Amino acid sequence: MSWKDNLDPKLVALVAEVDAKIAPRLAELDDQILDNQAKVLNAFRNHNVAESYLNGTTGYGDDDQGRDVLEAIYAEVLGGEDALVRPQFVSGTHTIGVAELGLVRPGDELLYITGEPYDTLQQVLGMAGNGIGSAKEYGIACDYVPLNADGSADLPAIQQRITAKTKVVCIQRSRGYATRDSFTVAKIAEMIKAVRAVAPAVWIFVDNAYGEFSERLEPLDVGADLMAGSLIKNAGGGIAKTGGYIVGRKDLVERVSYRMTVPGIGGAEGATGSNLWDMYEGFFLAPSVTGNAIKGAVFEAALLEALSLDVSPKWDAPRTDLIQTANFGNPEDMTKFAKAVQEFSPVDSFVTPIAEHMTGYEDKVIMAAGNFVSGATIEFSADGPLREPYTLYIQGGLTYAHVKLGIIGAAQATYFNK
Ligand SMILES: *Cc1c(COP(=O)(O)O)cnc(C)c1O
Repeated sequence: MSWKDNLDPKLVALVAEVDAKIAPRLAELDDQILDNQAKVLNAFRNHNVAESYLNGTTGYGDDDQGRDVLEAIYAEVLGGEDALVRPQFVSGTHTIGVAELGLVRPGDELLYITGEPYDTLQQVLGMAGNGIGSAKEYGIACDYVPLNADGSADLPAIQQRITAKTKVVCIQRSRGYATRDSFTVAKIAEMIKAVRAVAPAVWIFVDNAYGEFSERLEPLDVGADLMAGSLIKNAGGGIAKTGGYIVGRKDLVERVSYRMTVPGIGGAEGATGSNLWDMYEGFFLAPSVTGNAIKGAVFEAALLEALSLDVSPKWDAPRTDLIQTANFGNPEDMTKFAKAVQEFSPVDSFVTPIAEHMTGYEDKVIMAAGNFVSGATIEFSADGPLREPYTLYIQGGLTYAHVKLGIIGAAQATYFNK
């Protein structure tokens, strides 16, 4: 049996062309995987990870050596002094929200400089939703500086907007559901430089969701003070079942630890139960899983572009996260493609995704995902609102081979089954 069985010969020929075109780019990404894997392996060896660390604790979770060492490893690899890596974080939003709310006090201001924050964070901050328990309700002013028309950060406007009240400046690395490009670490470095020029002491926080291991450097390496992300995206390597991480300056990690639990306890408690094994193994696999998902996105971009779709980023553009978008131009093709993504999933392949109304969205949204870990976007998945220009956000994939098979299968179903 061959993967080419039942494929249109024209599609097979197109895939061969795409393979040849992207080969140098994939080789570059393999080299990046090697560098990031070396970084992680060295940290495991430097900290003498022992088998007993994988076991986890119960109850209060006092003296959890496995947890403490995993946090030290995260700090070393991601460029911080200390970290919190916990299964008690229920999602990326929770983790990022704990970091943001933990840094500020009544009367302070928190300022996003990369346009509107990710939808769910707007509710945390009180920019949307019912506001109960939000930063706004605590008397914290939250605002954002709009992006330039081309999607870049408006550095002069940012410098003007920062005042003595501005305690925290926030940067969102990945595009989320916005149409802008994601911000590379080099772009984040420029923003940090501009902010430091007018406010040397302001705390700079980065929403790093989807970013980990997609480049060789992380935002902390270029001067950010604190960052956070989800373990069911890149950092969990597809293995972690739940959780999040916060990493950065030691004093700031301590400060937000009192928001994570309560003052007095901070990070000293928190049983890891049966999660440490997954969190260790997942972080070890994360450079490879993330790198291969990005290789899959490069293939996706090149094949869909060859089929005349408008894609972003282009296959040869720099990347700093997992997200690939493609505009299908009409609801029929978008729906067909999403259905096929579901059909080519290892779990729930027999399920048909149907576009439905969701809270917070004006248009119907279609979501295709057949995952081992529910909702984990490090796994191959596609979603998007059914409106012009009919954009699917396609991300993740545990192996390059799976993404490639899924995209080829979806292309066949959408464009070659006439
Ligand atoms: C996914 C994501 C989040 C939130 O993570 P959840 O786990 O979905 O709550 C926040 N910011 C960005 C940029 C993201 O991509």
